[in-house]
Amino acid sequence: MRFGRPLWAEIDLDAVAHNVQEVRRHIGSTPQILAVVKANAYGHGAVAVAQVALAAGAERLGVACVEEAVVLRRAGITAPILILGYTPPWEANKVVEYGLTPTVTTQQLALAVARFASEAGVVAPVHLKVDTGMSRFGLTPDETVAFARFLAEIPSLTVEGLYTHFASADEADKTFTWQQFHAFLAVAEQLPHIPLRHVANSAAALDLPQLALDLVRPGICLYGCRPSAESGRTADLRPVCSLKARIVRVLDLAAGETVSYGRTWTAPRPARVALVPCGYADGLPRLLSNRGAVLVRGQRAPMVGRVCMDACLVDVTHIPDAAKDDEVVIFGRQGDAAIAVEEVAAHAETISYEILCGLSPRVPRVYRQDGRITRIQTLLGDYDASPEMAVAPGG
Ligand SMILES: *Cc1c(COP(=O)(O)O)cnc(C)c1O
Repeated sequence: MRFGRPLWAEIDLDAVAHNVQEVRRHIGSTPQILAVVKANAYGHGAVAVAQVALAAGAERLGVACVEEAVVLRRAGITAPILILGYTPPWEANKVVEYGLTPTVTTQQLALAVARFASEAGVVAPVHLKVDTGMSRFGLTPDETVAFARFLAEIPSLTVEGLYTHFASADEADKTFTWQQFHAFLAVAEQLPHIPLRHVANSAAALDLPQLALDLVRPGICLYGCRPSAESGRTADLRPVCSLKARIVRVLDLAAGETVSYGRTWTAPRPARVALVPCGYADGLPRLLSNRGAVLVRGQRAPMVGRVCMDACLVDVTHIPDAAKDDEVVIFGRQGDAAIAVEEVAAHAETISYEILCGLSPRVPRVYRQDGRITRIQTLLGDYDASPEMAVAPGG
């Protein structure tokens, strides 16, 4: 199987299913799981991940905005979809048309959804968000109680959920998380008619499963990353995404020759460097320049010189067999060696979330399920994998 330039993200859908079950193991059988698939499932492909998460036991999906939800509906997904972010009132028609569940924080949105729902002869479910310490979306506790009473008077709306979001559940010190939880409970007690109460992101679902309430909202852990080094330690998570490429050229440099823009790396001795077709336009942070490493033939090859828009260079002097078309693992496993996306994130002074979400649409997604390649998604479209595709991509 060959397509485009040799760079691809392998998405292990069996790992998504395993990670959903791992959340289930932590929270027990009662709370629902709302799989957070915003930002194209953190870069992994929202439709494929949503289908697998639902099949593995998630009951609901969460996205950031209406358009992300519409993509899932157009793919035939019928599970409830909660819009976690801001919905402007002019999207109320789509909310009703596609049967979505918005988080309402303004009267304008509530009234607009109510009007379209009433015209359609349906009762639209909405969730209310309390701000207990993020200072971001959500109403204050007092506003929430008043707003819930206002919404209760609107016949074409039903307040199905009440939730809050934790600011620091992934830290070892859970004091502020408990404070937020108690502030939330104080509001929930005043609104006992709301059936679904939920607070837990990945970190809380794994570290504080006693806060699961009626539903949990895991995101990052479904993709196989711990929310932070201090959290999710009891979970056996399997990384879902591996970023791979093939060497497109090997160059022999004399001592003193320089590499890439700005000439920030000089060969200290005769050196061999490999050109890897992955750059910052693919989502490889430019901060990895002269910092990161990749795997070639099971060994680490350090990045040398600046990461370019479409390519980067690695030093393979110590890997004498390294050759054109060799597989390069930017993160993921190669034989016994592995580079975690968390390590890439640390080199780039960020978190795994940003690396995963940043993988651009230019990087083909190769889906694996039941141990074989099932689907390939490129800029030019989606392909069902034919039997001859069942070999390594790009080679
Ligand atoms: C993104 C998001 C989540 C998921 O957070 P993770 O840390 O990835 O588990 C949960 N709830 C809300 C409201 C979110 O915006």
